[in-house]
Amino acid sequence: MTISFYPGPSRVHDRIPAYVKDAFRQGILSINHRSDTFMEISERTIRLLKENLDIPSDYTVFYTSSATECWEIIAQSVVTSASHHIYNGSFGEKWFDYTKRICANAEAHPFSMEEVLSAGAYHFADNNGVICITQNETSNGTQVNVQTIGTIRRNHPNHLVAVDATSSMAGIHLDFRAADIWFASVQKCFGLPAGLGLMICSPRAIDRIKEIGERNHYNSLTFMNDMMQKWQTPFTPNVLNIYLLMRVMTDSKPISQVHRTIKRRYARWMSFLESRASIRHLVANKEVHSWTVLPIAAEPEMVARIKAEAKSKGFLLGEGYGKFKESTFRIANFPAIRNIEIRKLQEMLKAF
Ligand SMILES: *Cc1c(COP(=O)(O)O)cnc(C)c1O
Repeated sequence: MTISFYPGPSRVHDRIPAYVKDAFRQGILSINHRSDTFMEISERTIRLLKENLDIPSDYTVFYTSSATECWEIIAQSVVTSASHHIYNGSFGEKWFDYTKRICANAEAHPFSMEEVLSAGAYHFADNNGVICITQNETSNGTQVNVQTIGTIRRNHPNHLVAVDATSSMAGIHLDFRAADIWFASVQKCFGLPAGLGLMICSPRAIDRIKEIGERNHYNSLTFMNDMMQKWQTPFTPNVLNIYLLMRVMTDSKPISQVHRTIKRRYARWMSFLESRASIRHLVANKEVHSWTVLPIAAEPEMVARIKAEAKSKGFLLGEGYGKFKESTFRIANFPAIRNIEIRKLQEMLKAF
């Protein structure tokens, strides 16, 4: 079987096939999403998520279908005056592009991928805009310090801060109090199949959503919030994936422990890369490195050879993203990946 290092959709947890079987046996695959059984699963999943990921109890968790849907939900239900997009890579830029189509006052504030984001550089003069930050940029393997996000939020008491944590949530510890809206999809660090997104809102965000009262879409946050009072969604959700999430959360370690493992593995990857002559981390500044996604740069000819060898040895590497397509490949450092698999991949890479 192929060992996937793709940073999403990524390797799923080993126990997923067994859980799918359980779901079938227990009749979960055909339960009604208004039934008591569903509401119990939904409530339990959210309780476990909050416990495991250290999400404040007064925050609200919503089920969506993807992170992309979350971009659109924020644009339609939360942005009124302006949205300010602070990003250094393709996913942050896409979020800006999608928002721009819905909201005329979306503004781009790109920064360089070698740059440590400085909270002091941003002063948005409008009164109640939304500040949009990609915490972990999957395209170039960089991350924004969560404390910096918290400082930006404190400097803008009337704004809401929304954070795309698609490729870091459930991989590293996030201080959810540092922002108002967080979202992710489960095919990255959660180690689940694609087709489910999570959106996590602070009490301040919920107040704002109610005040705006946007109800023009099936996934308007106002509806989502009304339905969540009964642990439900306005549409039929991905019940199987919610069940799988519940099972994975029942078994998983607290996020502080997962965080330590991920950081230790990142450090090992870095010392491995530093010992190689032909490959290196795409980003020179270690201070901004993501701990969950490693983009590896080499000569395009070398990248092609490594990819071919990986394929023949049964490894799936992440393609380089956007403008880095030819000159990089990416390696996920997600919790579901096993140490032995990392050792095997490093063994293969040593030949180059
Ligand atoms: C993968 C990814 C997305 C898109 O996720 P979907 O579930 O495909 O919508 C958005 N943002 C980031 C940072 C990602 O890594």
